Amino acid sequence: MMKLPVYLDNQATTPVDPEVFEAMKPYLTERFGNAASKAHKYGWEAESAVKFSRQTVAEFIGADPKEIIFTSGATESINLAHFGVANVYGSKGKHIISSFTEHSASYDSLKALEQKGFEVTFLPVNEEGIVKPDLVKDAIRDDTILVSIMAVNNEIGTINDIKKIGEICSEANIIFHTDATQAIGKIPFNVIELNVHLASFTAHKIYGPKGVGALYLRRKNPRIKITPLFYGGGHEDGFRSGTLNVPGIAGFGKAIEILKDKMESEKERIKSLRDKLYKGIVANLDAVTVNGSLEKRVANNLNICFKGVKSESLLMELRNDVAASSGAACSSASLKPSRVLKALRLDDECTNSSIRFSIGRFNTEEEINFAINKIVDAVNKLRVLSPASQINHEKTIN
Ligand SMILES: *Cc1c(COP(=O)(O)O)cnc(C)c1O
Repeated sequence: MMKLPVYLDNQATTPVDPEVFEAMKPYLTERFGNAASKAHKYGWEAESAVKFSRQTVAEFIGADPKEIIFTSGATESINLAHFGVANVYGSKGKHIISSFTEHSASYDSLKALEQKGFEVTFLPVNEEGIVKPDLVKDAIRDDTILVSIMAVNNEIGTINDIKKIGEICSEANIIFHTDATQAIGKIPFNVIELNVHLASFTAHKIYGPKGVGALYLRRKNPRIKITPLFYGGGHEDGFRSGTLNVPGIAGFGKAIEILKDKMESEKERIKSLRDKLYKGIVANLDAVTVNGSLEKRVANNLNICFKGVKSESLLMELRNDVAASSGAACSSASLKPSRVLKALRLDDECTNSSIRFSIGRFNTEEEINFAINKIVDAVNKLRVLSPASQINHEKTIN
């Protein structure tokens, strides 16, 4: 039996993989020790689980285990990177470069730095949804201390040229942070090859638990310094005080271990489901367009504008059948038009008529077929109901 509604919101969060759950269980029950307890077996067991995960996570991105700081998730990692760098290097300069399409964790933390006297250049994206590396180069000034550009966009799935941006930053001797949350497990991500100095990511987007993430902090060539966000017992080399979330970290490590095995084959399977969904929709509906480049995008994302249909109405119509979202989960509560879609300079109608479908490990072909039927029916129904359905029904698919 298919579980309803079909879950097509895997970029908001993913279910915990059963193998991850199994790996976490002992650390919630009999192996409950504090990883900082040095004098007994309970502590050693916990510490060894953390050590194993640190090793696994580091290896997966080409880092040294000492360069991994466990946090509560990507939001904390990003804030730690931004504020940490600003605190240390702010005396050298107060200019930061980022983009309009960053996740709110990144965008709003930079807005907070503006309040503290930093100046942030938010770069536009092209019609494909990509930050052109040349714009980064042109925006660099003598007082630029940090570039923070996401690797993969969470709403439209588009992939930035992180390698090129990394090269530009290296040449200019500027620190480069990337929000790699949606890139990990979707595209190859190696911090050395990409010239990345700091990278943020989280477990719950890769079939791990919520509330645990990591910041990669480069310790050599060059050594990057940051200050912590808060103070206490000096855990994580003083960068992140607070008792470690051992079950979460054990689950995070397991989630990465599974990716090592499955990432490539999974990508193919998910892409074929995504393409099936896309083809099913465009074959049966007029006046639908894809937001952002379909080619320069991760395999799990489809963000579509259904002309003449308000996204909120469509989600409501689909609520028992298909779970998807308009904009990012974190901002869709606010009902503000998506900053990402606005940055694409779509007409107003598309900004308010777009839905993100994101496919994951546990979706099946049967679910996709079911979703196509429900989406087509719902759009047709709403277009008949709404006077806006008279608009422009020429095929405008790209
Ligand atoms: C989900 C997400 C975040 C926030 O991650 P949390 O672990 O929920 O704090 C940040 N950036 C991107 C691109 C995301 O998709």
